Amino acid sequence: MEAAAVAATDALSLAAYAEEVAGCTRCALAKGRTQVVFGSGSASADLMFVGEAPGFHEDKQGVPFVGAAGQLLGKLLTGIGLTRDDVFVANVLKCRPPGNRDPQPDEIEACEPHLFRQIELIQPKVIATLGNFATKLLSGKPLGITRVHGAEQEVVLGSSRVLLYPLFHPAAALYTPRMLEVLEADFRRLPELLGRATAPPSPVVELVPERAPEPEPVQLGLF
Ligand code: URA
Repeated sequence: MEAAAVAATDALSLAAYAEEVAGCTRCALAKGRTQVVFGSGSASADLMFVGEAPGFHEDKQGVPFVGAAGQLLGKLLTGIGLTRDDVFVANVLKCRPPGNRDPQPDEIEACEPHLFRQIELIQPKVIATLGNFATKLLSGKPLGITRVHGAEQEVVLGSSRVLLYPLFHPAAALYTPRMLEVLEADFRRLPELLGRATAPPSPVVELVPERAPEPEPVQLGLF
């Protein structure tokens, strides 16, 4: 199938899943939400971002990262020559926790099948996790973001091998200049990681054993 046809099919499958998730009642957050914030961007993105949970503006607009943290994410993307339409942006939780409190373990557990299905459908090559919650969930390890930011690791999620790349959460970086510098520096490595993850496997070169040159035929003199 041609790339455009693949992209159209991907978009349809993801849109169908978004419709299914729109009515989710897997946890108590369903009661307080305006709407499910499924995620936005390209259904065939090589790069996916996973944040924490929708905030006030995201809940109202139905789109992740539309507030101040989202502005910063957009600026960082521009800096590496990408737009929000080139990537897919989602969250660990699809519904806003009241008062923007931290996601609770039971909410993460209830919501994670949605994130894993999104990953399966989009099949990104690189997933940049923004902050602690996404990093711990997708790495399967309890290590915090301060220890692991900027260190890519290969993980198998569902049926795909993905390069996981933990980053500081833009909302945290907004108020801490040193953290912003680190986030900017980590972000600048994304093109290299994407290039690495999307490079076709190097061709198999058949090694022909070196042979000693055939001896020159010896012209035997008749006399
Ligand atoms: N907005 C989101 O959509 N997610 C976050 O984690 C923070 C702000």
